[in-house]
Formats: sequence, structure tokens, C-alpha cells
Amino acid sequence: MTVQTCPACSRGNLRHYPRSRRSGRRNFRCTSCGLVGWSDRDEVAPVETVGLDTISVEQREAWFQLKRDGVTTAAWDEVLDELGSRLGGFETARSSPPQPPSSASRTVSQPATSAPLTGVEEGAPATVSQPATSAPLTGVEEGAPATVSKPATSAPLTGVEEGAPATVSKPRIYDIGAGDGGFLAHARERGFEVGGNELLEAAIEIARSKFDIELDLGDLSALGLPAENDAVTLWCVIAHVPEPAELLAECRDLLKPGGVLFLQTPFRCAVDSAALGALSASRGRTSRWVDRRVAAHHWILHTRRSMTEALERAGFVDVRITPKARYSLQAAPYLASLGLGGRKGEVVSRGVDRLLDKGLAPRIVLDAYARRPMETSS
Ligand SMILES: [Zn+2]
Repeated sequence: MTVQTCPACSRGNLRHYPRSRRSGRRNFRCTSCGLVGWSDRDEVAPVETVGLDTISVEQREAWFQLKRDGVTTAAWDEVLDELGSRLGGFETARSSPPQPPSSASRTVSQPATSAPLTGVEEGAPATVSQPATSAPLTGVEEGAPATVSKPATSAPLTGVEEGAPATVSKPRIYDIGAGDGGFLAHARERGFEVGGNELLEAAIEIARSKFDIELDLGDLSALGLPAENDAVTLWCVIAHVPEPAELLAECRDLLKPGGVLFLQTPFRCAVDSAALGALSASRGRTSRWVDRRVAAHHWILHTRRSMTEALERAGFVDVRITPKARYSLQAAPYLASLGLGGRKGEVVSRGVDRLLDKGLAPRIVLDAYARRPMETSS
């Protein structure tokens, strides 16, 4: 089935590119909102649970070991800071009174490096070119990239709860596609109540044994959960599902009125636009980059506009979109996956890593925040 209307803005102004000679896939671009995706919707994997007989705990554990290397915690802290801030009194509790960076008792215990390699994009080993340091905040200032908009403190809330408004207790966060529960465990340390769902039984087992977190097994639509959450989060989930608009509506219904949604998803960056141009000009011959970026693990690349329209159509307000240069992998394996391996790949990847360190890499993901309106008209 060929996609006829844009999954983000629902308009029918789709331009279909020539079929990739390598993958056989065809892509479209919405000329209204800029979203890029696969033209053949049938290829997108259905949303269904995966049992232990298909993926064992051991297999999943090995995969999570590749991903987790402490590199994601800076991104997690940034998001939890922002959620706390958007949840009003909770933020007041956390950041008041303001403390100067040089405060002797306050140093960053989580990685606050100036490397933009703090991401959680899936599908590759989570490695980072700079080690997680416990650098004091003063070291963050110079040359810090846009990815670090706030000091990534990981101070638990326990110390600042006194003086918090009595009405603000523990905000509840629900993580869609929670994986092994690492993000939720981190959020719990930061004072959130946590819940989440996951399609893989193996991941649920790991979250239980590793973090004592009980995730819900199954798709949201099958779970029928109440609107009891202050925040809902999706780390690289929305680009994987066949019906992203439905998922966003389900997320809205999980939130209390006034609750906040956060999601991270691949961003259609300048390199993607150039690659799509080359794909078109070469009649499908030059397709490596597009095949890699719009691939089995994510079938849509959003723009600011497409993400904004998708969220507003789902009934959200106060939308804020911020593209990020957030990478979870070293350049070398990524370039190898694009066919640039060996000695040549090594040389190029060293150059790319230098660019990443300087924050000059393309912004490949976007962060989106949005709010469920106080008045629920749905
Ligand atoms: Zn569109």
C-alpha cells in the first residue's frame, strides 16, 4: 500500500522519489510539512509483543550492553530538567535557590562533557569519544555545544523537597518503549514516580531484575491506561510505528490535563536533504545515505514543521522543537555501515570525530516538548 497522505500533517501533497537501486525501497517527501518517509507503508513492522522464545533475556542483555555506556545520562538529565521546569512547582523545588556553578558542594556527578555524543539513537553501539568526566560546571561553559543547554546535574530531589509546594509531590512519568528501564531508573533517582511499557518480554525481565521496575507488556492501545501521568516520554519510538498519529493521540490520553510530552526522533537534517536530491538526480542509484537514514529502524524523518503539525493535530499545545546534534556512536562504525570502511574510513572518521567534538556535526535528531491542554475537548 502506497502512502497517500502525510502521516504528520495528513495532507496529500506527497512527492515520491525513484526507487533505491540498493534497497528497492521508495521514499516520499511531503511538500507541505517536509516529512520524509517510506512510500510503501506495508514494509513498516507491525506493533506487536515479542516473546522470550523469539528474543531471550540474554540476547537483549547483550544488546543493551552495546547501547549503554553512561553516554545517555547527560541527555536524560537535560530532558528531566526540562520536564521538571515545565511541571511548574516541581522545578521550583529542584532549582531553588539558584546555586552558583562554583558552589563548593555542588559538582556534576553525571557526564557534563562538551561532546555532542550524548545520544540514544538506536541501532549502534553506544560509544563516546570523550569519557564521562565529573568535571565541575565551570568546565562546561567554554565551547559547550547547543546540546547542553543546562548544567546536567543529577542531584536527587531529596535535598530540596523542603520548601516545595505541598501540592507538588512526585510527578509521575510514563516512558513508551522503555527498553531495559534505564531512563526510568534515572528518573526515579531524580524524584519522579515511574512507569512505562515495552513490547519485548525480555526487556521487561531486565527492567525488573536490574532496576526493580515493573513495565507494562504490550502496545498502548491494548493497555487502556488512565490519564494519570504528569509526563510521557518517547525516546526514538515515534519513527518506528506504522501509525504515529494514533500513538501521539494515545500519549495525549495518558497525560493529566496540563501534562507534558517529550519525544526524541530523527530529524531531517541538511545532509538528508542533499542525499534525497542526489537520489532523485541519479534516478535511484545514489541511495546509500537515504537507505541508512530512513531504514528499517525508523521509517520517517521529521522536520520542525512536520513534528509541530503532528503534535497539534493530536491535540497538543505549547509545542517546542529543538534539533540536536546528539550521537550515540563513533563515526567509524557508522561510516562503515555506509560502505566507507577500512583505511579510508579510519581517516575520514577521525575527521568526523573532530567535528563532533567541536559541535559542528549535523543535527540528526529533534527534541519535542508539548503539553496537553488544561481543557480537554477531545
Ligand atoms: Zn506533511
